[in-house]
Amino acid sequence: MADPIPIQIRETVRTGLQRFANARAATLALRPDTPVYCFRPAQLEADARAFRDAFPGRTAYAVKTNPHPLVLDTLARSGVDAFDVASPAEFRMARAAAPQAALYYMHPVKAATAIREALTSYDIRHFAIDHENEAAKILREARAAGVDTPDLTLFVRLATRSHAVYELSRKFGAAPGHAVELLQRVHRLGARAGLCFHVGSQVEAPDAYATALKTAQWVRARAGVPVAALDIGGGFPARYGVDRRRKRPPTPTPGELIPRILRAVESTGFADVPLVAEPGRVVVARSLSVIVRVLLRKGQRLYINDGIWASLSDAWTGKLTLPVHLIPEPGRLKPKGDPKRVIPFRIMGATCDSVDILSRPFWLPETVATGDWIEVGHIGAYSLSLRTDFNGLCPDSFVEVDAPFRT
Ligand SMILES: *Cc1c(COP(=O)(O)O)cnc(C)c1O
Repeated sequence: MADPIPIQIRETVRTGLQRFANARAATLALRPDTPVYCFRPAQLEADARAFRDAFPGRTAYAVKTNPHPLVLDTLARSGVDAFDVASPAEFRMARAAAPQAALYYMHPVKAATAIREALTSYDIRHFAIDHENEAAKILREARAAGVDTPDLTLFVRLATRSHAVYELSRKFGAAPGHAVELLQRVHRLGARAGLCFHVGSQVEAPDAYATALKTAQWVRARAGVPVAALDIGGGFPARYGVDRRRKRPPTPTPGELIPRILRAVESTGFADVPLVAEPGRVVVARSLSVIVRVLLRKGQRLYINDGIWASLSDAWTGKLTLPVHLIPEPGRLKPKGDPKRVIPFRIMGATCDSVDILSRPFWLPETVATGDWIEVGHIGAYSLSLRTDFNGLCPDSFVEVDAPFRT
């Protein structure tokens, strides 16, 4: 079995990173010409704790959001004991960090060999389905592996309608009528039946959960079979930067949003059903920033050494305004302009690709110049997991930073 985690990364995790008080201190010490990630373990622990304190069910961190060993090890140390996983490589990464953790295999479409590995090597007993043939596939593999059907929980994934930066019901989920049939079938086959949904990532309409819960209530009532668990998925929004020309969508904190969801859980009759949630973004977004360098300024365009094929893919597709701080090159001559005047700069990515231009500007002092650095905040979610080696420009340097990123 191949270890997906390169030896030198585990070594770094064991021996510790170079540590700085803040990103400015790291920048002035290292003067980096390639991007440097600033990891904030205390922020990660605090954000994971805030979610778990607000949510009374089981919190299964969505590994795909950021599977770096620094992140998974910190979460495991802070007590996270369940993970939402989608592939054998993710099983291995979660277990390497937390050997006792419960794994929930919540991808609705899985390879038979991956199901077998889940059942036999990882004791995984929780699976998502949105079609009868996927249920048949799982039960066939369970029979072959000698796993008793009543030990399995098959979560029927509901299609939902919501407003999120990423909508996922275009791809996954059973319509309500179909979900009724699936729930009954799972019950008839002798497995435990669960319900799950995922309202999308970076939800912009916080009542999406209540709407999905109403669908779940309807499906459960029609199916008339016991529901062993309810998984409310991920999607909890992180708070990013402010684009002065746009209205900011609502971004309630877990402490604000989860009590609302719990009231909807109660009013839809699920108060007696064990709950699971699969947060990703809201747990990990603030735990990383990246220090990038301005390679060239052309008017109001900044060419930087990072971009959509490296750390900033999610910001590009999700049209997120990221919070930024300017770290001027101390050696340069007196800047032109007013350092207090903040204006939008168009951000050109590092690769030769013409689409490598961010969809939202960075708001920076008009004095920014070639050779300056920018600390880009809140990139912990969907950055490291979406990096590519396009043009040979895959960033992979990390430092630890004590001070939180202030917006
Ligand atoms: C991606 C994903 C998550 C995590 O979503 P966030 O928006 O990062 O919280 C949770 N559950 C499923 C099924 C997912 O696909």
